[in-house]
This record gives sequence, structure tokens and C-alpha cells, in this order.
Amino acid sequence: MSTTVKNEALPQADVKPCTVKRLSDHQQQDAVHAAVAINPLNASLVKPVPSNGSPHPVPMMAIMQIGKRWDAQHRTFTVSFQGDKRRDLQDRIISHMNAWNKTCGITFKHAGSGIGQVRISFGPGGYWSYVGTDIMLVDKHEPTMNLEGFSMDISEDEYKRVVRHETGHTLGFEHEHMRKELVSRIDPKEAYTYFWNNQGWDRATVDAQVLTPLDQTSTMGTPPDDTSIMCYQLPGEIMKDGVGIPGGKDINPTDYAFAGRMYPKTAAKAATPPGTRGIAQPAAMAGPAGPGVNGQHFSMDLLDEFNQATLI
Ligand SMILES: [Zn+2]
Repeated sequence: MSTTVKNEALPQADVKPCTVKRLSDHQQQDAVHAAVAINPLNASLVKPVPSNGSPHPVPMMAIMQIGKRWDAQHRTFTVSFQGDKRRDLQDRIISHMNAWNKTCGITFKHAGSGIGQVRISFGPGGYWSYVGTDIMLVDKHEPTMNLEGFSMDISEDEYKRVVRHETGHTLGFEHEHMRKELVSRIDPKEAYTYFWNNQGWDRATVDAQVLTPLDQTSTMGTPPDDTSIMCYQLPGEIMKDGVGIPGGKDINPTDYAFAGRMYPKTAAKAATPPGTRGIAQPAAMAGPAGPGVNGQHFSMDLLDEFNQATLI
């Protein structure tokens, strides 16, 4: 057992993890139609293609439900708030949402007195968000994101960890800890006990939020990135090898690179190779693009086509 990693990864009992919000079963078909209407290529990129041996390393350590990806027409989102009228709180939240804008071509702005496309509430239920284009199917009077109890008294570190994470879901990013490679390291029995004791989650919730790996055919990615902002902290006590997962505390360089690749700021920048446009290049990107899960990853040509199409 690695006690060092285990201790670093041990979550505080009062740290609330995020639960990804899913549309109801009867909305799933509409969600697919909406995703394809927003970005037709969402329909064409839900299956992996064999590696073509592309020499171009691409920042894809983060993962994405590419079937829920925004198109070039959705580059500015309005944000409204439910339940807290403090403008300084609202502006602080939006400033953290826009932290992604360092590399990502999507911007969030206050909806003023109107109803935003992103609607944030502060009620019970913890921290959650719908993913990507799914937010378009949420009733306009209902929130798309919840930040339970957020106030101006919350620390800046917590704003980074939570608001930036939930915003990642709005951008279409999934939980990094749902990667098969990480899920397979979790001891289910210990996880049920841990999340029941610390979060009050029943088995079904633990199954849905922690133990069910994402469909590998609907995500992009190469090696799991356990310090991604989209990754939970998981304690060593629930891991088969006793080694905890540190989890993300802020958008890391790989997240930034990935977001910039998914939503380039401009066509000109999109054509510039990663690493030459002010994006930190992770060490793991130094080598050739390795095979992804099951020896497959998305064709770089297909991804380029997707990017170009979204920039039109
Ligand atoms: Zn989350």
C-alpha cells in the first residue's frame, strides 16, 4: 500500500462529490436528436475507428461524450441564477466558468434579467450538472447546474475545484474517474460502504456515479488523467491496490489543451499544432500518439474534419 498517495487522496468527509445529471429515459431519444441537430457530427463520431498511425499527438487525456458536443454556433452561453440574487456571487461564479476560456473558445456571460441557457441553483442535492447538449432539453424553469450552498464565504480553492468541474460538464466533458482503467481498480464492496457512510449514497447511486465505466465507444481519450479537473478524489481504502486517486483541484494543462482542441478559439489557432499556441504540453504528449482503449483511438483525420466542420 502506498500510504503517501493514500493520505493525499483521502477526501475530507465534508467534501461533496459531483453527481452527473442525466436526462430521464423518455428524454434520451430527444437528447440524441437535439445533439445531432446542434452538431450533425455528433452522430458520426460515436464509434471509434482503428488507429491510422497518425504522427500527430493530440491532447486527449481528458474525455468527452462526443455525442453531446457543441458546435460553432454555440460559443457564448448566457447564465442565470435561481435562488440567490447577489450579483457579486454570480459574477464570481461566471469568472470561474470562464477560466476554461484560457484555451477554450466558449464564453459564459450573465443573462441579465433573462433566463440563461445555463441555469444555476444553490439548493440541496450537492453539486451536479447536465452534460453538453443535454442542457438544451432541461425545462427552462429548471436548473442545469447545482452548486449547493455556494456563497461568497466559500474558498477560492473550492470555487476552482467545483465550479470549473461543473462547467466542464456543461462543455460536454465526462468524469475522468469513470474510465474503465480507473473503475477496474475500485473494490465495489468497499466503495458501497465508503459512499454510504460519507455521502449517504445507496448502491444504485454508487453503481451509476462510480462503478459503471463509460461506454468506450462514446468517449475520446488515451491514458486516464487522475489529476484532471474532471476526476474525483478516490481514497485508497476503496481501491484494490490501496493507492488512492488524487483527483483534480483545478483545470490542469492537459484539460486546457483538450478543451482548446475540442473548441478552438479561432480557425487560425486550430490549425496551429498544440504546444505552439501557449498551451502547456504534458510530458505524456511528447511521444507519438499511443493507442487508446482496446488498441483503438479516434482517427486524427476524422477529428480534424470534425473540428473544421464546427468552425464553419
Ligand atoms: Zn462531475
